Amino acid sequence: MSTVVDRLRAALGDGVDTTDAALTAARADKSGHAAEGVPLAVVHARSVEDVQTTLRIATETGTPVVPRGAGTGLAGAANTGSGQIALSLRRMDRILEVRPDDLLAVVEPGILNAELNRRLAEHGVWWAPDPASREISTVGGNIATGAGGLLCAKYGVVRDAVLGLDVVLADGRLLHLGHRSVKGVTGYDLTSLMIGSEGTLGVVVGATLKLRHVVDGEPCSIVAVFPDVRAAAAGSAAVTASGVQPAIMELMDAASLAAVHDLLGLEPPASGAAQLTIQTDGPAARAEAARIASVLEACGGTVTVSDDPVEGERLLTIRRSMHPAMERLGTTLIEDVSVPRSALPAMFDEIARIEREYGHVIPTVAHAGDGNLHPNFVFTGTEVPDSVWAAAGDLFRSALRLGGTLTGEHGIGVLKRRWLADELGDDQWELQRRIKALFDPAGILNPGKVFG
Ligand SMILES: Cc1cc2nc3c(=O)[nH]c(=O)nc-3n(C[C@H](O)[C@H](O)[C@H](O)COP(=O)(O)OP(=O)(O)OC[C@H]3O[C@@H](n4cnc5c(N)ncnc54)[C@H](O)[C@@H]3O)c2cc1C
Repeated sequence: MSTVVDRLRAALGDGVDTTDAALTAARADKSGHAAEGVPLAVVHARSVEDVQTTLRIATETGTPVVPRGAGTGLAGAANTGSGQIALSLRRMDRILEVRPDDLLAVVEPGILNAELNRRLAEHGVWWAPDPASREISTVGGNIATGAGGLLCAKYGVVRDAVLGLDVVLADGRLLHLGHRSVKGVTGYDLTSLMIGSEGTLGVVVGATLKLRHVVDGEPCSIVAVFPDVRAAAAGSAAVTASGVQPAIMELMDAASLAAVHDLLGLEPPASGAAQLTIQTDGPAARAEAARIASVLEACGGTVTVSDDPVEGERLLTIRRSMHPAMERLGTTLIEDVSVPRSALPAMFDEIARIEREYGHVIPTVAHAGDGNLHPNFVFTGTEVPDSVWAAAGDLFRSALRLGGTLTGEHGIGVLKRRWLADELGDDQWELQRRIKALFDPAGILNPGKVFG
């Protein structure tokens, strides 16, 4: 009797990769965690038909399939282990259509976010979701995780930027979800259901994206330094309450600021100092920057405003260097809680309490414009120590108490499964399990992820 791999090979030829390097790479994403064992094969799909063929063989043989973009996820959701097929969409990377008049583009899932935007710029349009990983993550992965980024307080997250999706179900059927029109409310919104479903409901093989015209003019940058992180968080909440909408508003606490300054060879910041880095854009950029500066000065910040684009990029480089700065310190568990924006100061109080109670320093950055925090737990070795999980569990419960959520943009994957029911409640957890079973009755799509 032929094995699953034989059947895949007979149907897909050299699209089926069983080299050690490919199998090993498919075990892990960028979360620092890897699946148990090695997958059966990595299938490099080049077409919708390749995806359908893979899923039909998987269904007939009862073999689990893990869809995979670029493997930059931070929740372990693309990790593929023993007895499973890794289905890579990375080679399906064509732009099929760009319509600046309708502000939409139709793309395959494997195109990298930044590459898409470089190509769209030729048409004077862009796709707004901008994860810090935009140079290395795929549009399909962005959709499957419901990614966010620096600009999303003003320009929205992935959920706000997708009109329709082509999806292959576990049994190989192809669905066309959503629409090309701005409006559309026919039936249930299955496009939204797919966004953030982490490869558990279907494989995204095409996306109709909602675009924006490129924003005119140069952005203005504002840096505000505060004596401590609570004051910086209160400053960001005051900016939000003032009604001015910055394009970017990022917060770095003292530990993260110090680590990045060290990495980049910059003068060390003042002890305990925390920083807000803000950009305004569009025709009103300068006026809005001036208003924000006065709000932040009233909150006790030391404020500098610049309309020099080079300086603006330099400031954002400091924020974008957080991940490499943490990697230098050890293995990092990057957390991702989100709270209502007015609750940011209270959430930083909770982080300070958890640091004291558990004896861990937790360098934290936040997309302060939308209340999404990334507390980083740094440790030695490859396994997250129990004391770190205990502190992280406390952090999640604190976020929920403040009206927030377990994950703002990275997803549940394998790392947050045990807290999922705490947020959803038993009834919703069960309903969601049944939705999964409806899409994937045999349970072959990314099993063990999200629900466990
Ligand atoms: C340095 C760094 C910075 C980051 N910054 C951000 C950030 O600012 N914002 C943010 O949101 N995330 C960020 N991330 C996390 C990560 O880049 C995102 O989650 C990204 O969307 C994952 O895309 P990917 O192509 O790498 O997907 P993968 O990691 O390959 O997969 C992620 C999930 O999507 C599923 N999947 C992938 N493709 C498909 C498909 N075509 N159909 C169905 N399911 C699919 C997988 O099964 C898995 O569940 C960062 C990561 C790194 C390493």
